[in-house]
Amino acid sequence: MVERKNPSWKKYVRQVTPYTPGEQSDDADIIKLNTNENPYPPCKGVRDALKDFDYESLRKYPDPAIRELRAEIANYHNVGMENVFVGVGSDDVIAMCYMTFFNSAKAILFPDITYSFYDVWAEEFGVPYEKQPLTDDFRIVESDYYEENGGIIIPNPNAPTGIAEGKDFFRKIVAHNTDSIVIVDEAYVDFGAESVDSLIHSCDNLIVVRTLSKSRSLAGSRIGYALADEELIKAMHDVKYSFNSYTIDRITMKLGVEAIKDEAYFRENVEKIICTKNWTYNKLKDLGFEVFESSSNFLFAKPKGISAADLYKELKARKILVRFFDKPRINEYLRITIGTDDEMAKFIDVVSDILSK
Ligand code: PMP
Repeated sequence: MVERKNPSWKKYVRQVTPYTPGEQSDDADIIKLNTNENPYPPCKGVRDALKDFDYESLRKYPDPAIRELRAEIANYHNVGMENVFVGVGSDDVIAMCYMTFFNSAKAILFPDITYSFYDVWAEEFGVPYEKQPLTDDFRIVESDYYEENGGIIIPNPNAPTGIAEGKDFFRKIVAHNTDSIVIVDEAYVDFGAESVDSLIHSCDNLIVVRTLSKSRSLAGSRIGYALADEELIKAMHDVKYSFNSYTIDRITMKLGVEAIKDEAYFRENVEKIICTKNWTYNKLKDLGFEVFESSSNFLFAKPKGISAADLYKELKARKILVRFFDKPRINEYLRITIGTDDEMAKFIDVVSDILSK
């Protein structure tokens, strides 16, 4: 047994309460509707790139500027490569944005109900922050973001509600904040919301963050990116090169390029998921749930006749994982990721069975 002392280094440990990701499980019998992954595999180009990968190239470092992938992303969004920053999932990209831009003594702003990593990063980097309350029907109030601030981050669609706002909404917020950086986190935008990517040409304080984890089925590969004016992207690269230069490995780079290239497969998958979402929405309504119209690949729903906490537990006991947030204002809701048609049919059957008991 090691004898535990109380050395002084303990005083200097950075104290953080970590973000809690959704449970992961490799149990093939589990229906996993808890972390907003895509139920379909990545495109064929990804499979071929893995099969044909030149393993000998792994002895060399990857390109720190991630040029091949940035060029593909730039081409897809019709911007220049100097407008694209790539990171290890959008979590890494957003963390880099915080490090680069959120250094003022003024509070950064984000909604009270939103992606629960935003306050974790603020705590981690010692950035003051204020949460702007959503309305009772979970909408973001535009004018809450007109007060003085050290930066703004808002997801569109919002998570975990799935509710989206339009381009004009963000145009106004960005225009009211020319002295600070506004980040729009578009992790779920492909499933039914309007992107603000084209605004980066006219707004030099806007950063649009995207991920390949959801609509491109690459959560396991970890690729996210930011689109912004070149001066902002350069500032982010300067910080990245002072922290970790080789973020995207050679294999990941190839997979990302293939995933972006195959637009037809991407569109087909997104359409399928939207269709399944609409079917699930109606079924949940039939079962008496209160469900929000969602522009994402998940539904946010309040069950009837059972608490969200109990339904979460009952579903888990039957090997279906959904997400329950034990937090004020949202602990009566479940966030349900849209799976395949078969998975959602099974989910609805099991929910009906639980409710009938
Ligand atoms: N933003 C939002 C709103 C999310 O829900 C997620 C997924 N947890 C992310 C960013 C991060 O996704 P990733 O790091 O896989 O790109």
